[in-house]
Amino acid sequence: AGTTTKPDISREKSAELFAKAKTYFPGGVNSPVRAFKSVHGTPLFIEKGDGSHIWDADGNEFIDYCGSWGPLILGHNNGKVREKVISVMQNGMSFGAPTALENELAELILKNNKYIQKLRFVSSGTEAVMSAIRLARGYTKRDKILKFEGCYHGHTDSLLVKAGSGLVTFGETSSAGVPKSFADETIVIPLNDEQALEQAFANFKDQIAAVIIEPIPANNGLLLQEKEFLKFLRIICAQNGTLLIFDEVISGFRVGFEGAAGHYQIKPDIITYGKIIGGGLPVGCYGASAEIMGHISPDGGVYQAGTLSGNPVAMAAGIAQLTELLRMGFYRELNNKTQEFTEAIQRFATARNYKFKVFTIGSIFWFAFTDKEAIRSADDIDPASMDKFKKLHRELLNRGIYFGPSGYEVGFISAAHTKIDLEKTKRAIFDSLELVFS
Ligand code: PLP
Repeated sequence: AGTTTKPDISREKSAELFAKAKTYFPGGVNSPVRAFKSVHGTPLFIEKGDGSHIWDADGNEFIDYCGSWGPLILGHNNGKVREKVISVMQNGMSFGAPTALENELAELILKNNKYIQKLRFVSSGTEAVMSAIRLARGYTKRDKILKFEGCYHGHTDSLLVKAGSGLVTFGETSSAGVPKSFADETIVIPLNDEQALEQAFANFKDQIAAVIIEPIPANNGLLLQEKEFLKFLRIICAQNGTLLIFDEVISGFRVGFEGAAGHYQIKPDIITYGKIIGGGLPVGCYGASAEIMGHISPDGGVYQAGTLSGNPVAMAAGIAQLTELLRMGFYRELNNKTQEFTEAIQRFATARNYKFKVFTIGSIFWFAFTDKEAIRSADDIDPASMDKFKKLHRELLNRGIYFGPSGYEVGFISAAHTKIDLEKTKRAIFDSLELVFS
């Protein structure tokens, strides 16, 4: 009680930089969500990050829960990652020829992940997904793919597709510039819906090359799937000669070293990784059995290449970060810390009868303005509830807490978040929720 709205933080320098940026880049940004369109104000230009904290151009300090959208599981500017990157950079930054560092990162991953046998490094999550789709098509000699409404897989043409009307439909493009003929190869169905899945396989018998899913959908809220659904998905794909692709660009190395595959103990046919794998530098990867990966060039007929693929500096960051993740108890500690934090917030909201739920898995969490016990598909989210997030976001920013600028985005806790950080954040969230619900 008695909580009052805080005055807005100063954004003079950020606003100046944004005005300049708008003359250089569409919308002033190099990736759309950064433009702060769905929350109050203009974007903050970040100058520096250290541990769990970031500082903007006006000198405002924040505890950060965006973590560069997922990669920074050790926090900002981790000493081990920085030192490794600097030491590798002393020897040059790119060769376009094999280096031992690629072997080193691959070995770290493959020795500790029973779900893939071979992999290929690329430079982003989008590229990993695009290549995985091509591999599935080349391997199965089929053209159609199936995706779920509410999953994001990067900006490759065939996946910028949303559901049309009806339960099982060809998608409609969700971006200008994607040919309708591409969308016609993509089937889109709701998450967590076995019936829709069965119908899709019946309607398109022997035509579906791959089903792609974020096994932990975290780009449209956190749409946690029932394990039974994921198991059903595994089985129906196998029965139909369709490859199952887990897009683990967010969940990989996040909910555990083996990602969602390990968490649910389900073996997909192809897995894509990004974000954490590169320690904050541009790395993505896709992996599968040796047999499936044998179809990639130069061994096989599916072409895929990259000038900066396996870049030594990026590999160095990945090696340093993943080495830390393999320390005993790393995930237990991180996940427990997250659970304590989210439970405290939920208790606070429940005690006050707020229509507010915290969904969480591993060190990922999402605030939903709802009274539903579970939200498993995109349709379950009330778009009007985003007004409340907008208020929350503003109050939190003014209290020194930085969340991704959209209510559909999840938050991440890193190993660098301290007890003091989390206490301060909880208090800020309690005060802000009181205002949002007053
Ligand atoms: N797949 C998933 C699940 C993602 O969350 C993202 C990005 O957020 C991508 C793919 C695309 O990755 P990138 O932005 O590195 O291209």
